[in-house]
Amino acid sequence: MTRSRVSRRKFLQTTTALATGTALLPVHGWAAAAFGAQDGATDVPRSNNRIGYEKVPWKAQPFPMTQVRLGPGPLREMQERDRVYLYMLPNDRLLHSFRLTAGKPSTAQPLGGWEAPDGELRGHFAGGHYLSACALMYAATGDEALRVKAEALVAALADCQQENGYLSAYPETFYDRLKKHQEVWAPFYTYHKILAGHIDMYVYCGSQTALYTAKGMADWAIAWIAPLSDEELAKVQMTEHGGMNEALFNLYALTGEKKYLDGGLRFEHKRFFDPLAARANKLAGLHSNTNIPKVIGAARGYELTGDERYKTIAEFFWQTVVDHHTYAAGGTSNNDEGWSEPDTLGSHLAPAGQECCCSYNMLKLSRHLFGWNPEARRMDYYEHLLWNVRAGTQSPDGMLMYYVPTIAGGWKTFGKQTDSFWCCYGTGVEEYAKLVDTIYFHDASSVWVNQFVASEVSWPEKRVRLVQKTSFPYEETTAITVHAEAPVEFALRIRAPHWAQGIAVTVNGHAEHAAAGADGYLLLNRTWKSGDRVDVALPMSLRVEAVAGSLELATLAYGPLALAAEMGRDGLTPGMIVGPEGPKMDELPPLGLPVFNPGATGWVSRSSDGELRFRTSGQVRDYTFKPLNQIADERYSVYWQKRAV
Ligand SMILES: [Zn+2]
Repeated sequence: MTRSRVSRRKFLQTTTALATGTALLPVHGWAAAAFGAQDGATDVPRSNNRIGYEKVPWKAQPFPMTQVRLGPGPLREMQERDRVYLYMLPNDRLLHSFRLTAGKPSTAQPLGGWEAPDGELRGHFAGGHYLSACALMYAATGDEALRVKAEALVAALADCQQENGYLSAYPETFYDRLKKHQEVWAPFYTYHKILAGHIDMYVYCGSQTALYTAKGMADWAIAWIAPLSDEELAKVQMTEHGGMNEALFNLYALTGEKKYLDGGLRFEHKRFFDPLAARANKLAGLHSNTNIPKVIGAARGYELTGDERYKTIAEFFWQTVVDHHTYAAGGTSNNDEGWSEPDTLGSHLAPAGQECCCSYNMLKLSRHLFGWNPEARRMDYYEHLLWNVRAGTQSPDGMLMYYVPTIAGGWKTFGKQTDSFWCCYGTGVEEYAKLVDTIYFHDASSVWVNQFVASEVSWPEKRVRLVQKTSFPYEETTAITVHAEAPVEFALRIRAPHWAQGIAVTVNGHAEHAAAGADGYLLLNRTWKSGDRVDVALPMSLRVEAVAGSLELATLAYGPLALAAEMGRDGLTPGMIVGPEGPKMDELPPLGLPVFNPGATGWVSRSSDGELRFRTSGQVRDYTFKPLNQIADERYSVYWQKRAV
């Protein structure tokens, strides 16, 4: 999120009472079958005799989230912590600023942080991300009580919507300031979140009220920009505006109403898109998370219009960020939340950076690109972010991180229950609600196993259920068991990760020759019967990884995991960990980069106790490494310096 003035409020203790759905609306005529794949980005309700509006359908489709469930393991723990947190936030507190803005009474205790009553981003979480998270969580878990709570919130927000369609937790005058180029935080950014939250409530929960509200909101936004000249619009677009283009495209895909397609096209940020369309990397100096959602909009625009320019923008952008602007742990964005010159990240190790929103949005973008052309490299990247900068960025009580520090001696900091609500709180509660959405994709005759996660997927078209059991990445195997009503033919495509050497596959205990194809997937095509079991060995190894542009630096990786050197807890207090957006480095003595001689034999080796711990030996100072996602309440460094020999 771009920086602005945020008035800090004293931590407000909240109750954890579960709100009940007294204002539950009937779910008009909604049937799960009408929702196709229930994926907001790809397969939305087909109101038009099941004829969609996509010009470019995905070659591989995600299974509907309702058909995938997590098994025991770290992802389900993340999901459950998130679910508890969603229940902790009472609707009347979420509604407070919306009601006051609509001239309605509210006696609720206001939320703090970026949702404080005088915060200029208020509503982004309370009426936006929160709805998206509840909708996704309902799809991922079937938690009916949470759907009822969210539907009640939708109903109460509808009561706050103005006749002209405007809905926000602050008045329209913020947009007057935007138009006059006076200082204001990011009105359309907030508007996008609220609009997207309502779209998600329609897509995943069948809320007709949410769709009605979303259409009204979109109509207002389209009417607001209509009188602007292209020049005036370009000035307005200098202020962060989230994924307004994507949300309007999605609304077009839901309704078939062309005005929303036109609206999405009008919101295009040409100044940002034009260099990308020309395959030019002009990202240096730009704010990262301001721009990634626009590219997701370009991807969606390509799917709905077939415009190759949008495809080029999305693909070139993704490749550029992955190749030249990505830290070892997978995140992007530097200390100022922006991009520097390509391959200069070694010069930008800092307490901030790797903003969690960027990771969330890059994962979303990766799904589109994978859908167009299913290739393992997209899902390798997905895996890398999932296990390094999404896992391990949520505290045991469900609180979330803003940045993942890259500086030596940095530490992880987490927000508070009702006094933070940073942008990354919003994307965080969504992330952990939708962990099932990318594990498996399919087409008519095959299923892609993209991620190694304890889970199961139902495939009713084939009358098949696949159950995956694994403790990956803490074990180097996964096992998939077929449950089928009758023998059935399909292809099982299992990702062969780039880091795994010597992958071995057995079916019912017999070795299979399954070399990865050009797409990076192992192909097992056969007639499957119930009880068939596929075991996959995914050998991990310890790797020293170079840092582009910084020959003196390196990092350690084990399989998909970025490893961090433990640098102690001396002086670290709870107040330094809970509350701040990132570590305040001047509160503790500085710690330099660890220095190693990676040329020495046996300089680092895995501990013998079975844990993922790696100990250096014979160095000027020795350290223990462990997966970055297991770093908690301690100082660390992913990066280290190579000692000249
Ligand atoms: Zn953020």
